[in-house]
Order: sequence, then C-alpha cells, then structure tokens
Amino acid sequence: MTLDTKLIHAGQEPDPVTGAVNVPINVSSTFKQDGIGQMRSGYEYARSGNPTRNSLEATLAAIENGGFAKAFASGLAAENTLLSLLHSGDEVVGTSDIYGGTYRLLTKVFPRFGVTFRAVNGHNPADFKKQLSSRTRLIWVETPTNPLLNLVDIASIAELKPKNVLLAVDNTFASPYFQTPLDLGADVVVHSATKYLSGHSDVIGGALVYKDKALDEEIRYLHNAQGGILSPFDSYLIQRGIKTLGVRMKRHEQTAWKVAEFLRGHSKAEKVFFAGFEDHPGAAVAKKQMRGQPGLVSFVLKGTKSDVNRFFQSLKLFTFAESLGGVESLTCYPYEMTHGSIPAEVKDKIGITDRLIRLSVGLEDANELIEDLKSALK
Ligand SMILES: *Cc1c(COP(=O)(O)O)cnc(C)c1O
Repeated sequence: MTLDTKLIHAGQEPDPVTGAVNVPINVSSTFKQDGIGQMRSGYEYARSGNPTRNSLEATLAAIENGGFAKAFASGLAAENTLLSLLHSGDEVVGTSDIYGGTYRLLTKVFPRFGVTFRAVNGHNPADFKKQLSSRTRLIWVETPTNPLLNLVDIASIAELKPKNVLLAVDNTFASPYFQTPLDLGADVVVHSATKYLSGHSDVIGGALVYKDKALDEEIRYLHNAQGGILSPFDSYLIQRGIKTLGVRMKRHEQTAWKVAEFLRGHSKAEKVFFAGFEDHPGAAVAKKQMRGQPGLVSFVLKGTKSDVNRFFQSLKLFTFAESLGGVESLTCYPYEMTHGSIPAEVKDKIGITDRLIRLSVGLEDANELIEDLKSALK
C-alpha cells in the first residue's frame, strides 16, 4: 500500500464482530479469562494491551515503515520510556536546539539516575561524531529542529554511529507524510502525536516506532512497567486524525510557502526561517530526506520585545498559544514558551532570541492569513 492508502486502511480493518468501519473505542480495563492462563484474545488488562490502542499502534507502525509501535499518554511519556532503556553511566548525544521538554528530561531528570546529556555544537554529522564517547548509547536527533528549522542529515548520522548506539529521531515536525527516518537508518522514531498526527489540537499523545524485535521486547516491557499508556478515546482521536494527515500536510505546506515568501519580502521581518527555501543552510539535506515541508515558519521581528508582544496581540486569525500542527493557525514565543526551560545563555547561543516568533500555519485561507500578518506587522 502507498502511504496515502495506509493512512486510511493500515491497522483499521472493519470490526470482525459488527462490521463497524471505524475501530470501536473499547473502554474495558479488564478482560474475562476462561481459566488459569486462558485468555480469549490475548487481552488481559488494558495497561498491557487495549484493542483501540493496538489498532492505532498498527497504523503508526505501518505509516512510519516500522514493524512495531507503542502509543503513550504524551510525547514526553514516550521519550521518558525510551530514555529508560539506558542505565546509569550511559550518555545521550544530541543538539541543544531540541524541544524544551526533551531538553528538560535530558538535563534535569535523567541525570538524577546517572544518564547524562552531551550537547552537539552545530547540525553536521561531523559535529555529532566529535561528541560520541564509549559511554554514548543514544543519539537524539530532531529535524527540522524546533523552532529554527535546522536540518540534520539522518542517513549520515546512521552511517557514522557505532552499532551499539541507538539513533532516535523526533519526527513530530515533518510527520511520516514528509519524512520516514526508519527508512534512513534511524532505530527509533519519536512522536508527539499531539501535533500533526492528531492535527486538531484536541488531544495529548505520543508514540515510539521501530523495526527491531529485540527492541520491541524491551520497549513493550517498559510501556507496561512504567504505565505511560495512551487512553482508548485518545487513541481513537489520533487514529481519526491520521486519516487526513496527507491532505492536511499538503495544504499546510502550500500555505507555509506563501506565508514564508510574504515574510521574506516584508521590511519588518529581519530574518525568516523556512526549510523549503533554496538558500536555507539545510536545503540539500531537506531535498535528500524529506518529501515536503510542514507548516512551520519562524522569523525575527525588527524591533523590541514589546513590539513582539504588540504583534501577538494584534493578530486575529493566528492564535497566540503553545503547540503546533493543528488545523488552526497558531503563533508562539519560543523564548519564554516552548523553550522556557532552556537556560538563557544556551538559547542565545543557538539563536532563539527574544524577538523570534514561530508560526504554525493552519488550514485557513492563505490570503486571509497573510492579510492578518500584514496588518499585525503594520
Ligand atoms: C510537543 C513536542 C514534544 C512533546 O510532546 P507532548 O505531546 O507535548 O508531550 C516533543 N517533541 C517535539 C518536537 C514537540 O513539538
């Protein structure tokens, strides 16, 4: 099946009992057993397995070209379980311009258990290589990065890493519609399903997707042991969202191009970040590993922090709020919102300044979105 067909059909067969075309929301926390050790269908207790969640997991595995997937209560719950594969003394290597919550887990929570984080300077595979040590067990890649949309070459990093090091790629921004890291040599794909996968800003969820059977045994064990599972209703919502991922991503991309070009031509935008631009430093990598660009555009406003605030308050269609990837256009202030938990000196170094604005371009009419930006900039 092609991706467009998988989005609708993979893991989503009609219900064998009733013929229901949509996967039922199965809320049972427990399942009758016919005798000691005699389960009817493999289900016993819904933390370890639930039919609605399993169905979503089958869809996720199929659309990321993995063999296995696990769905979690949030993107960070998925990351927490992935990092729990590590032991005291192990090290994670990744760039500093990652999602603020990921940075917090890596620098504040896991060091308590002896798992440390080494930050890479830059985004070239060679920069990653320099930071690897005999203690490195995991490489963490976000591409395009949040919010500066830097590109990291997944295949090159997969090639240079030692065999015993796992390569995890946070694919939240590109979504499987535009990028499938497992095809490029990554070992694990991480998702905040809260964003493009669900697509309607009405659910918090996360996922891990991977190919390896031995890895599945470890992750399946931790998923149940730690219990950060996704609820049946949220599983349903995310699966429902995935059905329209293709049409949404194409439209997000089209409108993001128009918005990015409009901003590039506007005198109040000092610098525009959009990974689709030919002169973007990662343009060649984008061409190589992505099938398109998500609806994310960031820019630096000419002026002061208070001008930035006035800009946010003047917008009518773009809602000033955290998050991204929904049908509605959002804008946020990474410096104090998504990246608030990153120290100021790190933010300054990587270019997340107090005049940086991130847009998540939604599915509204492109001209009306541009009019909204134009009048707020004025
Ligand atoms: C939102 C986000 C996360 C965290 O996911 P939650 O669902 O909010 O826990 C991780 N990575 C990226 C890139 C994100 O945008």
